[in-house]
Amino acid sequence: MSKTIAINAGSSSLKWQLYKMPEEEVIAKGLIERIGLKDSISTVKFDGKSESQTLDIDDHHKAVEILMSDLLRFEIIKSFDEITGVGHRVVAGGEDFKESTLIGDKEIEKIDELSALAPLHNPAHVAGIKAFKEILPDITSVAVFDTAFHTTMPAVAYRYPIANKYYEDYQVRKYGAHGTSHQYVSQEAAKLLDKPAKDLKIITCHIGNGASITAVKGGKSVDTSMGLTPLGGIMMGTRSGDLDPAIIPFLIDREPELSDAEAIRHIFNRESGLLGISERSSDMRDIIDAREAGDEKAKLAFDMYVDRVQKYIGQYVAVLNGVDAIVFTAGVGENSVPFREAVIEGLTWFGMSLDPERNVFGAEGIISTEDSSVKVMVIPTDEELVIARDVERLKNK
Ligand code: ADP
Repeated sequence: MSKTIAINAGSSSLKWQLYKMPEEEVIAKGLIERIGLKDSISTVKFDGKSESQTLDIDDHHKAVEILMSDLLRFEIIKSFDEITGVGHRVVAGGEDFKESTLIGDKEIEKIDELSALAPLHNPAHVAGIKAFKEILPDITSVAVFDTAFHTTMPAVAYRYPIANKYYEDYQVRKYGAHGTSHQYVSQEAAKLLDKPAKDLKIITCHIGNGASITAVKGGKSVDTSMGLTPLGGIMMGTRSGDLDPAIIPFLIDREPELSDAEAIRHIFNRESGLLGISERSSDMRDIIDAREAGDEKAKLAFDMYVDRVQKYIGQYVAVLNGVDAIVFTAGVGENSVPFREAVIEGLTWFGMSLDPERNVFGAEGIISTEDSSVKVMVIPTDEELVIARDVERLKNK
């Protein structure tokens, strides 16, 4: 029996999911939080139980040690030999990684070099990868890139209309993100429609705390809303999404302390989006509750968010010159009935309409009316499963 572990390492966290493969059965999953801080928390969920412990976990190496010893302690595995593969989510793969890849020293070095494109994420992925290499040196180690699905975008979509030298010298271009999720839900949508992906035009809306929208034609990403980094595109929980670039020098002229790149990054990544407008929360649930209670700022935040999603869907109908299906996924997309209703309400001209009896909490599958010429769907994303499948595929190569 072979077990594969899917890893999503963040700067201070490590999310994991252990699969029995090829059955694709989730045996256990967990989260280690506050790595590098005092009172780190490791939570393991298995057999309907949830076990947490608080201890100091200094770094990712220690986190992986704790995770492995927990797997033994809870008898989820009897020995480390049962684990034959590990797959790591990697946010930025740049132009180099067009698909999932086996990880050797060369790949680790390259992922580290690409940190400029995902400064919050890639260094943490490298730490996670190295920790597994040290603790389980003999297992198959695979990197699955958020950007890989989008490497099929044509230059017309991925280039920015700025001087060529910035692309040539620094590879300033659109890379997108959430590719694993967009790929997975677009493939599931094709299954639901019972048509080959190559014949379909699909717009996938991954709306979580981070959010992005992708135009998928013939099974390939042809455009996506996130840009050089995950800051671009639609408005998000704390990120601004697209802006007039002149806003940055305009603000620097007035508040000189903002001329520091880190200060600018902070404002647009951490203090904007739903949080910036509502001055209350980055969480869509809080925004919806406050809006229902009559809070004007929360109402504006919600309306702006919906507006940005509608505009991107409209753009991508143009990019694709038509659309067969709209897919909602991730935290907000999967769970928020009023959000989906508000988005589709403004797009009826395109031949989309929601069935209120289908657009309910917990809905999965098609939620549009029978006569809606564009099908609207809710498909829960499963990036971990894609990672586990890629490990299995590359292990057998
Ligand atoms: P991340 O980008 O962190 O992976 P998720 O995909 O888990 O995010 O989405 C998290 C977001 O989902 C939360 O910030 C919250 O706003 C939203 N969310 C979760 N459940 C609901 C719900 N029932 N209604 C509205 N929003 C929800």
